Amino acid sequence: YVAKTTRTGVRVYQPDDDRNSPRRLAMVADLREAIQRHDLVVVFQPKLETATGIVRGAEALARWHHPAHGFVPPDEFIPLAETSGLIRPLTLHVLEVALRRCASWRRMGHDMHVAVNLSPNSLQEADLPDIVARLLGQAGVPASALTLEITESSIMDDPAGSLVTLDRLHALGVKLAIDDFGTGYSSLGRLRELPIHEMKIDKSFVQRIAVDHRDRAVVRSAVQLGHALDLEVVAEGVEDEQTLNHLRLEGCNLVQGYFISKPLPADEFADWLAARVPQLGQA
Ligand code: C2E
Ligand code: MG
Ligand code: MG
Ligand code: MG
Repeated sequence: YVAKTTRTGVRVYQPDDDRNSPRRLAMVADLREAIQRHDLVVVFQPKLETATGIVRGAEALARWHHPAHGFVPPDEFIPLAETSGLIRPLTLHVLEVALRRCASWRRMGHDMHVAVNLSPNSLQEADLPDIVARLLGQAGVPASALTLEITESSIMDDPAGSLVTLDRLHALGVKLAIDDFGTGYSSLGRLRELPIHEMKIDKSFVQRIAVDHRDRAVVRSAVQLGHALDLEVVAEGVEDEQTLNHLRLEGCNLVQGYFISKPLPADEFADWLAARVPQLGQA
């Protein structure tokens, strides 16, 4: 077959592949095995308070190293999981690993939360809140230390159904974040009704604020909207110091990005965290 090359590596699966193409079925089988064997790795990227530099938490991100094809980016295997019935076991695996790690940071004395990404379909699963409650209990992590990140479009797919799930998660004490804010089509009215506590401005707006006044205007409006709705506002994709300085000026509460740290394997993340603590106060 002809594999297409992408920025991140070799594209072995095309989202528009026929559902039953041999190539796609082989990848689904490999992904299923990787999930069952717990071969999917979870990496962690810190979230920092912009004003103080304090590490508030970390986002868990899934990584798949395919035995033959090498690194497959999440933008490829997450859609594959979503369309092949594998997103549920994948999500539960990431949740379990993330909560276990969060428990260990907290035992080391770091008052940290962990954030896990949810796929749109997960909000349609009625037992999600019960499962989350059970995993929190097993890990010994308070519900308030877990943030679930959802996208605008996942709510807009089925606003009424998702709201039931979101309300139940909120009732548990779990925090909810709107991810990739600005890229979806959320109605502002709906945003106001959701039990969310955090807005993450998409990196496509953040990355050029130091050089483009239009992007700066978009980010400024998003920060103002977030604050008006009593949300904490996070900027993702902070790659340099000028961008961080602008975000500080705009009053953006939290930052995440390569300038602070790339997503790290759990052990490296724990070392990063330990080394960072004495320097609190310097972002
Ligand atoms: P996301 O949740 O918006 O995660 C942020 C993405 O931006 C991550 O890409 C992260 O590595 C990347 N990133 C962080 N800082 C920077 C930066 O300074 N510059 C740039 N250019 N990129 C930065 P990643 O890990 O490839 O994940 C892509 C998307 O895949 C995530 O977007 C999320 O939607 C999805 N994803 C990843 N892991 C999971 C998972 O366990 N479950 C679900 N449902 N989705 C996941
Ligand atoms: Mg996210
Ligand atoms: Mg995001
Ligand atoms: Mg994103």
